[in-house]
Amino acid sequence: MPSSDCLFCRIISGEIPATKVYEDDTLVAFNDISPQAPMHALIVPREHVATLNDLGEKHDAIVGAMIRRAAAIASERGYAVSGYRTVFNCNADAGQAVFHIHLHVLGGRKMGWPPG
Ligand code: AMP
Ligand code: ZN
Repeated sequence: MPSSDCLFCRIISGEIPATKVYEDDTLVAFNDISPQAPMHALIVPREHVATLNDLGEKHDAIVGAMIRRAAAIASERGYAVSGYRTVFNCNADAGQAVFHIHLHVLGGRKMGWPPG
């Protein structure tokens, strides 16, 4: 269920503005408000799912579509060959701040490893 308390549900509904870069029946992608690289988009399912721990088998197709959309956005921006980073943060130790799952897709600079 969409949650009026959830920032990303409110972006999906259009109640809060964001620069959307893609949308379809199941996914929305928009630019991160605090970009950590020249490309930094977030890909979210329209369905409110709080964390990766809340995913079930019924979500497998949506998560697959999120990952393929990250690759498509990176490719459109010219980063398919040079490379890009995709990240799902889950809960406190990973620094998850918004509890509606989102796939970060970052590119346009050399990424460090291990991540901070
Ligand atoms: P995480 O730490 O994985 O939960 O990432 C949350 C991300 O949401 C951060 O990279 C924030 O910069 C981003 N963010 C927070 N508020 C907004 C907003 N209003 N529009 C777009 N991105 C946002
Ligand atoms: Zn939500």
